[in-house]
Amino acid sequence: MGRVLITGAAGFLGSHLCDKFIEEGFDVVAMDNLITGDLGNIEHLFKLPNFEFYHHDVTTFVHVPGELDYILHFASPASPIDYLKIPIQTLKVGAMGTHNLLGLAKEKKARILIASTSEVYGDPLVHPQTEDYYGNVNTIGPRGVYDEAKRFMESITMAYHRIHGLETRIVRIFDTYGPRMRLNDGRVIPAFIGQALRGEDFTIFGDGSQTRSFCYVDDQVEGIYKLLMSNYSYPVNIGNPEEITINELVHEILDLTGSDQKVVNKPLPKDDPSQRKPDITKANEILDWFPVVSRKEGFAKTYEYFKNLSDEELFKKEH
Ligand code: NAD
Repeated sequence: MGRVLITGAAGFLGSHLCDKFIEEGFDVVAMDNLITGDLGNIEHLFKLPNFEFYHHDVTTFVHVPGELDYILHFASPASPIDYLKIPIQTLKVGAMGTHNLLGLAKEKKARILIASTSEVYGDPLVHPQTEDYYGNVNTIGPRGVYDEAKRFMESITMAYHRIHGLETRIVRIFDTYGPRMRLNDGRVIPAFIGQALRGEDFTIFGDGSQTRSFCYVDDQVEGIYKLLMSNYSYPVNIGNPEEITINELVHEILDLTGSDQKVVNKPLPKDDPSQRKPDITKANEILDWFPVVSRKEGFAKTYEYFKNLSDEELFKKEH
């Protein structure tokens, strides 16, 4: 099938992509510096002859011996807690990391797919967000480090496509959830499930009327795979367009966990988007892709994963 390099392989999405490409019969080269990832997410693959792991920071020169057919660049802090804590590393992995991997793709004549994000739309003034919307980002706000890193990533990728004729793909990922997320990385679904399992009050930032659209990881991975295999070089939104408010989400988690906590409201973080919903017409038309996992099914699978964590994991604080 070919040989694929996946950066950010020990993280949430990267580890599921490793599983997918192994399942499809590829040789997988996984790379990660473990800054937010966990080797436990891929340790089940270590015994396979067609899986290799490089402990490496992609912001420094990236060398991989042998041929490569595809590169998926997923290395980057991805949750607000992470990129607010390590803002410079976030900018570096989006800028220098992407530059290094584009250079590697050029050297190996490999097709490269980069993981962009719905955050390139910032706090969107267009709803739902289509790929031709240019976004509303505060460049100097604390979240700007992530949003602008990803916007630069898209620009340099298109420049390599135009100037060097590189085969490039850009996925704009909307909120995705599932097993192997970290309980305390600040993303709302693991945060609520963790609070339910520990019997703590639910924390809602703002009044809970802000909306999000949540995509189950298996759907996301299928969309990314189809985009990589397509011949489309412009950005494509992959996400689930079913939109809910954070208040509605709390009720769905309460139903799921059978718990009965109180809700505590805290101030909304700066530049937190008030609504988020992908327009997936393009993914539908070009890739024949649409999400198939319902929230009920996806939440149940995710809850099952978190329920089986040890108490040590459940009560672990982020450092
Ligand atoms: P994650 O934190 O679980 O995984 C990111 C991985 O990248 C980690 O294993 C981390 O150690 C690694 N990494 C970070 N900097 C690195 C560096 N300099 N060199 C090598 N490895 C490095 O996050 P995730 O949710 O799996 O996100 C993966 C990618 O998808 C990110 O690029 C993120 O921006 C993008 N994305 C994710 C979502 C989502 O909903 N999960 C949404 C939009 C975009």
